[in-house]
Amino acid sequence: MRKPSILVLYTGGTIGMMKDPKTGSLVPFDFGNIYEHMPVLRNLDYVIDFYSFENLIDSSNMTPEFWIELAEKIEENYEKYDGFVVLHGSDTMAYSASALSFMLENLAKPVVFTGSQLPMGMVRSDGRENFVTSIEIAASKINGMPCAPEVCIFFENQLLRGNRATKFNAENFNAFSSGNYPTLADVGIKIKYNREFIAKPNEGKLIVHKKFDRNVGILKLFPGITHDFVKHALGTPGLKGIIMETFGSGNAPTSEWFLDELADAIRKGLIIYNVTQCKSGSVEMGRYETSLNLDKIGVISGYDITTESALAKMMYLLGEGFSRSDIKKYLQTSLRGEMTV
Ligand code: ASP
Repeated sequence: MRKPSILVLYTGGTIGMMKDPKTGSLVPFDFGNIYEHMPVLRNLDYVIDFYSFENLIDSSNMTPEFWIELAEKIEENYEKYDGFVVLHGSDTMAYSASALSFMLENLAKPVVFTGSQLPMGMVRSDGRENFVTSIEIAASKINGMPCAPEVCIFFENQLLRGNRATKFNAENFNAFSSGNYPTLADVGIKIKYNREFIAKPNEGKLIVHKKFDRNVGILKLFPGITHDFVKHALGTPGLKGIIMETFGSGNAPTSEWFLDELADAIRKGLIIYNVTQCKSGSVEMGRYETSLNLDKIGVISGYDITTESALAKMMYLLGEGFSRSDIKKYLQTSLRGEMTV
């Protein structure tokens, strides 16, 4: 029988670092020698190939252009491999995983993002476990079908849907949460897949979308927000879409100036997407008076989508050049399992 084959794509981040034995400082790991550093990989009996991007980055420097490069590498190698593991810094991993989920339409193979809080080359690193388990997940099949044919994030002991995840802890090994969607798999002695929550492999041909519009923004509301601040944010030249992070179930101030600014911006063509600041729960426009007004002036509900996913979705929909009414419709539709409507 053919061995499972996995392509590991290394973008940078803590996971790929090790201490230089000579200088003692952290330097990028040479994945060409991976079997030397991690002989345990041989036990998996897979074909594991590596591709390292030329410009390895701390994920705080991630850009839509890099997302496109990453998606293109997956596209180029899609037929050749059973699954993909993306080594990525944890800081913006949820944004990248969300973006890739929108880019890879009809995905039928696992794309598992992973990283670590401590560099792979450190004694107590969480990187080795995360790396080995991600490879195992990317290769796992049941009855010939991949167990997790989605863009996902594996960290510590949980497999999460990528466009549902958020980095919530800068210190713990368990760094990600998915407040509105169950884990896709829980990892202990065994990898327990929660099949009812995992997407079925798509049957259509993979379509890779490669356009993002960066004319978007995030406006986080807070008590005491000034008129000037809102006016300037909404009036940013060229701005087409904004993710408005509201309170609780989608609530915002009822002050006249605030609603007038929003209504005016919407009239001029801005798309305003209502996403909650809470890590769990959903926007419910109209539940309180403080959100009923937003509904009336044409703010769009993001239901239980994460900010990371909302941003990637807005960039993707605007980039694709859909009509305004289609964008509004798609923002309220779950395209890749990113929201519960
Ligand atoms: N700053 C690093 C990054 O996101 C942290 C990490 O790798 O987890 O690239």
